[in-house]
Amino acid sequence: VACCEADDNNNAPEEVILKDSVPDFKWHILWEFVKPQLFALIGAVVLAFGAAMLNIQIPLMLGDLVNVVARYLREHSGTYVNEIKGPAIKLLGLYAIQGLLTTGYIILLSRVGERVAADMRKTLFASLIRQDVAFFDANKTGQLVNRLTADIQEFKSSFKLVISQGLRSITQTVGCFVSLYIISPKLTGLTVVVLPCLVGAGAIIGSFLRKLSRLAQEQGYEYFCTLMLVSFIMFLLRLYAHEVDKSCEMNENLGGGIAVFQGLSNVALNCIVLGTIFAGGTLISSDEMSPGDLMSFLVASQTVQRSLASISILFGQVVRGMSAGARVFEYLSLKPTIPLSGGGRIPFHSLIGRVDFMNISFSYPTRPGHEVLKKFSLTLPPCKTVAIVGESGGGKSTVASLLERFYDPTNGVVMLDGLDIRTLDLAWLRGQVIGFINQEPVLFGSSIMENIRFGKPDATDAEVISAAKQSNAHRFIMSFPDGYNTMVGERGVALSGGQKQRIAIARALIKNPSILVLDEATSALDAESERVVQEALNRATRGRTVLIIAHRLSTIQGADLICVMSNGRIVEAGTHLELLSKGGLYSDLIRRQRAEGQK
Ligand code: ADP
Repeated sequence: VACCEADDNNNAPEEVILKDSVPDFKWHILWEFVKPQLFALIGAVVLAFGAAMLNIQIPLMLGDLVNVVARYLREHSGTYVNEIKGPAIKLLGLYAIQGLLTTGYIILLSRVGERVAADMRKTLFASLIRQDVAFFDANKTGQLVNRLTADIQEFKSSFKLVISQGLRSITQTVGCFVSLYIISPKLTGLTVVVLPCLVGAGAIIGSFLRKLSRLAQEQGYEYFCTLMLVSFIMFLLRLYAHEVDKSCEMNENLGGGIAVFQGLSNVALNCIVLGTIFAGGTLISSDEMSPGDLMSFLVASQTVQRSLASISILFGQVVRGMSAGARVFEYLSLKPTIPLSGGGRIPFHSLIGRVDFMNISFSYPTRPGHEVLKKFSLTLPPCKTVAIVGESGGGKSTVASLLERFYDPTNGVVMLDGLDIRTLDLAWLRGQVIGFINQEPVLFGSSIMENIRFGKPDATDAEVISAAKQSNAHRFIMSFPDGYNTMVGERGVALSGGQKQRIAIARALIKNPSILVLDEATSALDAESERVVQEALNRATRGRTVLIIAHRLSTIQGADLICVMSNGRIVEAGTHLELLSKGGLYSDLIRRQRAEGQK
């Protein structure tokens, strides 16, 4: 059996299952979330850009400072402090402004990130609760929520990081590269000539290492291509080493090769610094460059190195952030297969409340091979009470689910007053026509007033109290010191089973529904509570079409019609006495329950 079930699950329709493949990233959805934060975002971008521009300026200022020092050493004119004061104060000023800009853009960006993420969370929640029951059958709610929460988190941090670091790194790389060229075209030219050789050597060793590795390093190749595109490949070696770092963790056999590779690339990088100083020194001695320029060149090239390193990290972050975002967006735009609104309504005064299940076949979407109802037909005459009894698993609750349109039948139709319920407005059907009293009522951590009002959100306090009176709940509610404001649920007062049920009855009655579905409690109440609840139910069912899903038989003997269900079909129907005298399945059930009761 377990094996069959597993097979059934595998056949589940694809659209309701959480997919593992990454959907496309939808920019227009991102735009909808970013739009309200546009000013803050533009502010952040402007500040980040300003900070980056200053970072380009700072190496040049450092160069000026070094030139002042060099001149003082050469000429010994004036006092050192006086000479150095001007450029030093300027530089300090730049540092201060740069610090302020950085603080500013990080604050703004966090605000944008947090608000976008909060909006996404709210929209996502709203989208999820609109989904069909079938969607939640297929996707474990906890898993779904966890995964999407993690995805939003991932998306948020990527979003912030990519905007702040990405903008800064790109601006700085381009800006500093221009500075390098302005400071010394020759030195820059030299580096650009020397580097491809080093990069070439690195690539050869790298591809050798890659052959050793079992893992496909697509990302590494992408970094390589991107950097080639940026055409500035000065520090590719270090980036490559970073990439190789990752595979080192995964594949120990590569350890030795990587150690050599990293050692070599470190040597190469240090040689570049040494070479720059050497070549720069030559240029200084031939008066083509000042010592300050060399200083600027070194600092600017360090800035470029740092920026490129962070671009390489960002690249991975972009990929991760986009796939997380795409998954979230997919769930945001998910449409329920049973739309909540749209369709006809029958005006209250002409609603008769007759329900027909006609030739219904039904399998749950998660178990398509397992037919729960087989050509099931049943009429609920207006203002009559019909009870369905039978062994557990026979399909009783499924009938109620189809009436509420939690699912649509695979074949056949459910009709209300002769109209296919698929053509009717679902919000109206659930909100105003059908009252549902569940066997284990769920109370929210809120006041009794709000818990009853849940059945009709726009109900007045007087309506709530009247519903509570009809359901025999008013007396016990008033016996609490806080009356209707008494808090219930996890952190509120503990209500007895009978009290909870009466609140659930009030919640259903407040809609004044034409049809009442009672999914009867399996848990036995004590005799006194049962009497009060039964009294409330008797009053509640008067003048309404009632469907009782009965798990115990004692309470339904007065029903106008009792249907015995077995294997997705009605096998016996009649009144209590008719069925008893027939001596079939029903009388068996009665006998069995009596015997159990005596145990
Ligand atoms: P009853 O109310 O008579 O105990 P149900 O209508 O709850 O029976 O269940 C009928 C059959 O449908 C059972 O075999 C049960 O396992 C199956 N079933 C019930 N709910 C679901 C669901 N959400 N997904 C898949 N199968 C279900």
